[in-house]
Amino acid sequence: MQVLPIQSGATTKECPPQGRLIVLTGPSGVGKGTLMQALLRRHPELYYSVSVTTRSPRLGEINGKSYYFISRNKFEQLVAQGEFLEWAEFAGNYYGTPREVVLDHIRSGKLVVLEIELEGARQIRATFPSALSIFILPPSFPELENRIRGRAQDSEDAIARRLRRAQAEIEAADEFDIQIVNDDFETALNDIEAALFG
Ligand code: ADP
Ligand code: 5GP
Repeated sequence: MQVLPIQSGATTKECPPQGRLIVLTGPSGVGKGTLMQALLRRHPELYYSVSVTTRSPRLGEINGKSYYFISRNKFEQLVAQGEFLEWAEFAGNYYGTPREVVLDHIRSGKLVVLEIELEGARQIRATFPSALSIFILPPSFPELENRIRGRAQDSEDAIARRLRRAQAEIEAADEFDIQIVNDDFETALNDIEAALFG
C-alpha cells in the first residue's frame, strides 16, 4: 500500500538558475485567481503554472487551462513518482504544482507564477529561498465571506471548510515577503506589478 507523507512535496533545497518563482498566496476567495488573470493579460510574458487537482471542475473551468483535473488515485501515484514541486490537501481535495514544466520555464529565464494555498507556499519558500512570495489579504473577514459566497460556485460544505481555514491562513500573512490587501482591485493589481517589476 502506498503511504503518503503528510503535507509533503518538495523536501530538498533546489537552486533555480536564471528565472524566478513568484508565489501568490492567501485565503480562498480573496481574489487571487482574478488578480492572476488580470496580471497575465497585462504581462503575457509571465508563465502561469497550471496546477493539478482532485477537485471537480466548476462551471466554465477547462481541463488543462484552469487545472488538470485527475482522480485521487492518479494524484497519489504522481506524488509517489515525485512529479510535484509542492502539493497539499485543501478543503478535502489535493492540489499540486507540476515539477518539470515549472523548472524548465525557470531554466529558460521566465518569471513563473504559482497561485497556491498556504501549505504549498510554505513548501516553496523552504525549497526556493529566492522565490518572491506575495500574500493577498481581504479588507475584512465578512468581505471574504461575501466574495466566497458571491462566487456562487461552491457547496455550503465547501464554503464552510474554506472559511474555517481562512482565519489561520490570514494569521500566517507575515511569513511572506510582501502583503497586499485586495480591497480596490486596481490598486491591488498595481501593487503586485510594483512588487514584480519595481
Ligand atoms: P481566489 O482565487 O482567491 O479563491 P477569486 O479570484 O475566485 O478568489 O475571487 C473570489 C470572488 O471575489 C470573485 O467573484 C471575484 O470576482 C471577487 N473579487 C476579486 N477581487 C475583488 C475585489 N477587489 N473587490 C471585490 N470583489 C473581488
Ligand atoms: P480552488 O478550489 O478555490 O480553485 O482552490 C483552493 C485553493 O487551492 C486556493 O487557495 C488555490 O490557490 C489553491 N491551489 C491551487 N492550485 C494549487 C497548487 O498547485 N498547490 C497548492 N498547494 N495549492 C493550490
